[in-house]
Amino acid sequence: MSSGKINVSVENIFPLIKKFLYSDHEIFLRELVSNATDATLKLKHLTSIGEAKVEYGNPVIEVKIDKDGKKLHIIDQGLGMTAEEVEKYINQIAFSGAEEFLEKYKDSAKDSGVIGHFGLGFYSAFMVASKVEIITKSFKDEPAAHWTCDGSPEFTLETADKTERGTEIVLHIAEDSLEFLEEGKIRELLTKYNKFMPIPIKFGTKKEALPRPENAGDDYKTEYVEVDNIINNPNPAWTKQPSDLSDEDYKNFYRELYPMQFDEPLFNIHLNVDYPFNLTGILYFPKLSNDLQIQKDKIQLYQNQVFVTDNVEGIVPEFLTMLKGVIDSPDIPLNVSRSYLQADGNVKKISNYITRKVSDKLKSLFNENRADFEQKWNDIKIVLEFGMLSEAKFYEKAGDFALYPTTENKYYTLAELKEALAPTQTDKDGNLVVLYASNVELQHSYIEAAKEKGYEVLLLDSPIVSHLIQKLETDNEKLSFVRVDADHVDNLIKKEEEQISRLSEDEKTKLKEVIEVVVPKEKYSVQLESMDSKAAPFIITQPEFMRRMKE
Ligand code: ADP
Ligand code: MG
Repeated sequence: MSSGKINVSVENIFPLIKKFLYSDHEIFLRELVSNATDATLKLKHLTSIGEAKVEYGNPVIEVKIDKDGKKLHIIDQGLGMTAEEVEKYINQIAFSGAEEFLEKYKDSAKDSGVIGHFGLGFYSAFMVASKVEIITKSFKDEPAAHWTCDGSPEFTLETADKTERGTEIVLHIAEDSLEFLEEGKIRELLTKYNKFMPIPIKFGTKKEALPRPENAGDDYKTEYVEVDNIINNPNPAWTKQPSDLSDEDYKNFYRELYPMQFDEPLFNIHLNVDYPFNLTGILYFPKLSNDLQIQKDKIQLYQNQVFVTDNVEGIVPEFLTMLKGVIDSPDIPLNVSRSYLQADGNVKKISNYITRKVSDKLKSLFNENRADFEQKWNDIKIVLEFGMLSEAKFYEKAGDFALYPTTENKYYTLAELKEALAPTQTDKDGNLVVLYASNVELQHSYIEAAKEKGYEVLLLDSPIVSHLIQKLETDNEKLSFVRVDADHVDNLIKKEEEQISRLSEDEKTKLKEVIEVVVPKEKYSVQLESMDSKAAPFIITQPEFMRRMKE
């Protein structure tokens, strides 16, 4: 047996770690399971290149609670460590890593803008444990080692009699962290952080029904066996090739990601790039019908299949944060504040790549099956219109597929709309006048009156549409949008002369006077032109500019 003192400049760094990362104690489990995964994958690699002459087999990682002993065990069948390696990797590297981490982030860790907290690694165990043991047997032909440390820089290292290859970490859970001995808590954490990690993770056992024998009689009772409860899916859809996945696979993965979400996604976008940065993932366009679900089920960020956060602000363009799904990239810096993140070159490229993939997908959906795309328009328009307003690049691309539906359920692109309206809806100054309604019920009579005159009326009813209209007017010369209940409708040149009222000018003036007693003429104007239409005896309109002023 040997004991020693770890060479650190801070006498006792554990209380410091505890303090700085107060809100993130739970990540210790992610870190330890990540280490177990790394150790297993390293062994896989070494056996595959012939450097480790041992059977790789079908390794699992086990997480086990010993409630009476107040201990939590994390056991792997990875490459293990020799005593010398424990000295090197745990006493030196992990310690200096933790120290370096503290040095670097003790200020930023205090503000909540820091995401991830990757890098603390093994020593995060001391956030929840008063004593940590490592019992490890290397794949090399050397005796097992047993390391113990109570959080002070002193440690003991002795030989152990462990015979199976791999590492067991034993955490003696501290009195203030007893929640981590609760089965429910550990299951919650494993599900949150480790759900898609690449090595199977066992947590307890579960009962599984045996298949019913063919000759079973009526009184047959289902028999059960205890099997390992594997909490993760080591091969999630996003790690596969798009060509190996069917529509059904994508939908199943959506359900796996969001078990409480019952709506099916509208479509998905598979992200897959390895240069100049590495990124995989699957994004889904959800039906935006359930507001609560939108808040809850967010895009999840992973690094090498380890969950990091579901706050992707700054990584994904804002308008796409309404989407759902997964992105996995080792190239996103995590121990940084959000403002730093937004300035990072790689992150900018990633954000641009995602925007491009989304617009490419929309364009191909539009080209391949326009009828289907039109059907989905109502569910996706908010995201798209928001994107057109907030991202110049997306606005440019959206010209190809952004749709402008009419109250008659016809869907125009902007180019088609201009062409369709040119013969009928050009005003005296040569401006193309686009009539639109924002509420079919409230503006019913105006819509009918306009249709009566042979005009097309768009239905633009999303909450940000007035901003979009302003942008379209700025960017398109001689294009103006007028709401169907605004007075400009008058100025449309079509059939203006043909519109003959059954009232004489004199009668009209008198009737107008009567109406204007109840309707203030400074704000509204009264039109009797549609007296002979089926829609309404007369209509009251308000100038477009006055209406916009109120909005
Ligand atoms: P990192 O994982 O970033 O290298 P950690 O502090 O998590 O940093 O771990 C330090 C080192 O300890 C690892 O690089 C590895 O060499 C060793 N180690 C930790 N856990 C295990 C394990 N379960 N099996 C084998 N080696 C391990
Ligand atoms: Mg680690």
